[in-house]
Order: sequence, then C-alpha cells, then structure tokens
Amino acid sequence: MPMSIEFKTRLSPVLKKAVKHFGTPFHIYDETGIIETSEHLKKAFSGRNGFREFFAVKALPNPSVMKIMKDQGFGFDCSSSPEIMLARNIGSRGEDIMFTSNNTSMEQFETANADEGSILNLDDVSLIAKVPVMPELICFRYNPGPRRRGNKIIGNPVESKYGVSHEKITDAYKEVIKRGAKRFGMHTMLASNELNYEYMVETTQMLLSMVEQVSYALDIKFEFINIGGGLGIPYRPDQKKMNIDALGSETTALLDQFEQKNGWSPKLFMESGRYMTGPHGVLVTTIINHKDIYRKYVGVDASMSSLMRPGMYEAYHHIHIHEKEDLTQHETVDVVGSLCENIDKFAVQRTLPVTSEGDILVIHDTGAHGHAMGFNYNANLRPKELLLRTDGSIELIRREETVNDYFATLNFEKNILC
Ligand SMILES: *Cc1c(COP(=O)(O)O)cnc(C)c1O
Repeated sequence: MPMSIEFKTRLSPVLKKAVKHFGTPFHIYDETGIIETSEHLKKAFSGRNGFREFFAVKALPNPSVMKIMKDQGFGFDCSSSPEIMLARNIGSRGEDIMFTSNNTSMEQFETANADEGSILNLDDVSLIAKVPVMPELICFRYNPGPRRRGNKIIGNPVESKYGVSHEKITDAYKEVIKRGAKRFGMHTMLASNELNYEYMVETTQMLLSMVEQVSYALDIKFEFINIGGGLGIPYRPDQKKMNIDALGSETTALLDQFEQKNGWSPKLFMESGRYMTGPHGVLVTTIINHKDIYRKYVGVDASMSSLMRPGMYEAYHHIHIHEKEDLTQHETVDVVGSLCENIDKFAVQRTLPVTSEGDILVIHDTGAHGHAMGFNYNANLRPKELLLRTDGSIELIRREETVNDYFATLNFEKNILC
C-alpha cells in the first residue's frame, strides 16, 4: 500500500491551501508518520539493549527532518563531508555519526576525524594506512561475495565495488589492531528496497558468524554489527509492508543465542533511509498541459529534477488526483515533465481519472531518494520541500532553486592558466 490513509487524511484538507500559499511543485513530508515509523522501529528491536538506527542521510538530507530523527535518539549514516556537516549542524557528535564512505579521499577522512570524530567504517584494506589518526573504535564494511545473492537495485555482491572480501577481513582487523584500534564493529549493506524481512535476518546471521570467526582468530570482541539499510517499502498498491516486528524478534533471538554461546554479544545497528521516510513524503504538482498524439500525455509542472526514480530505475510511484479520486471517468496516460529526455515521465501508461488543467496531481512515496536525487540537467531547477508538522502547521524547510542558484557556479573571479 503506498501513501497511508492516515497521511492522506492529514494532508488532503490542507492541500489546496498549501498549493495556494507555497506554489507547486513541492515535496511535503509528514512529521507524524516519520515519528510513528521511528517509534515502531525502536519497539520492534527493544528485545535487547543498545539497538540504534543511524538514519541514512542521503535518503533525505534536510536538517528539519534529521532533527526529528535525532530527537528519536538516532544517529546518522553519512558518506560524504557535507553529509557529516549536516549531522554536526544539528548537534550530532562522535559516535552519533557513522562514516560509511568508499573510494575515500583524504579530505573526507579529515572531516570525519574533526570535531570529536565519528565511527569510521572502512571500505577497504588499502584505506587503513591512509587513516590520518587511527581511532580507538573502527569498523569494516564486509562484502561476502558469492556467499550471498544481492538484489536488483544494489546488484550481485561479486560485482559490487563496496567492502572488504571474505578472504581479507580477518587480516584487516589484525592490521588496525597493530595500529592501535581497540574497539570494533562490522558492517555490511547488501540489499536495497528489500521487502522480505528474512533477507535481513540472514544478513544478521552472516555478520554474527563473521564476528565470531574474527573474534576467535584475533581474541577480540565486537561492540556492534551494522546490518545496513535496504529495508523496503511497498510502492505498489498490491505490495505489503515489510514485517518489521518479525525482523526485530528474529534478530533479537539470534543475538540471544550468540550471547549464550560466547558469553558476550555485539549490539545491533541499522542504517535505514527509505524505510524511515519514504512513505511519509509526496511530490505535489499541478497539471499544466494535455497532449494527445499516439498516446495521451498529462503534463505537470515538476520534472525529473524533482524525482529521478521512475526515469532511472523504471520505478513505480503511485499517483492520485486530488479531489478526483471518486471520478468514474478514467483514461490511460503518461505523466510527464518538461525535460528534453523521453525518460522524464512520472508514470507510463497509467490509468488515472480524466483531468483538467489546474488539477493537483500527487505522486506518492517520495520521502526518500526523491528530492535528494534531483539534478539540474536541462537547467531544470529543484523544487521546495515542506514539512507537515504534528500540530497541522506547514513549514517551508527548503526553498526552491532559483536561476541565481543555477548561475552561482558561473560567477567567479577569472582564473586563466597561460
Ligand atoms: C544508501 C545507503 C543506505 C540507505 O539505504 P536505504 O535503501 O535508503 O535504506 C544505508 N547505508 C549505506 C551504506 C548506503 O549506501
């Protein structure tokens, strides 16, 4: 099920007013929904102490939303210097930040180590010697290669550019111990938008068995395992939500067993993005044109610059027309933006109520990897972001880009090498 009935019930009565006041297009996020999902997640994993979610900043890098996560006690998973700076700007420090980079630059290491540091999650053995100051706590991203199948978006682990191979993982920890590391974590990230919770249980099992192996080989203990993000959400009306309660109870049981066998146990960390905010955002656009050629087209005032997923992955995003849901007259259309790229479509051959210019079209599930993935190709500018607060007020949390923003990188002092 896409956008929840509850979110729709909160948004629909104020939508016209918001459109009039702020103008379309915009993404709007539902604070109530984000809080409910966060609280449900914590409850599902409350069977053991120390569970922590590190919200994957790349899914929705807006400080106003990150602040909601921080108030829930969550940390942040960052993979670039500006993402670390975003987390620090709202007051996160040290071990509140997990820095999961790959192909890491020295500049990134310096940002990660500054300001009380962060949890360094190293992507490769070649990076060990490049860490400016070896911190006490260190983590590696593990890539199981042929031992696991990946999934469609993230791909087969053997072809994936991420992580330390099975053959090198023990030596990787041996090397950081030599350089002064004393506390350890192990991380992996294998799936994306995975709706089957059992896949994540298998990932937990895999990390626990790796942690056991390395801890025996090197006589160390692990403080945490991080099973990554990748929890899926139902984009299509016929899909069901992932069973987070079952994931919580089955991973708790695995950690209990581990503790009984070994006398200690790592804590469980996770770094979901999509699951936390994906269903709690929609892209609101106005219909501005209709075109009837070999197919029928509904043209809206947003384009791919607001939402890449349909063009990039042929991803399905559910759509409804505000105040026309009960209409019995339907037609099959492509919903398109104005970019000079034929993949600039929000929906292909979708059956929707018959619309008129000025109707408000709502694209569901844009709360993660939506605005954040936007780009400026064809000089299309990115839209604004709004937040529907728990008290019903609506706050502008990012303005739209303007032509001045587009020109900003073209206005600079002359720099000519003769
Ligand atoms: C993208 C990413 C995530 C978040 O993925 P979701 O599918 O949004 O849960 C978490 N961890 C890492 C390392 C990532 O690259």
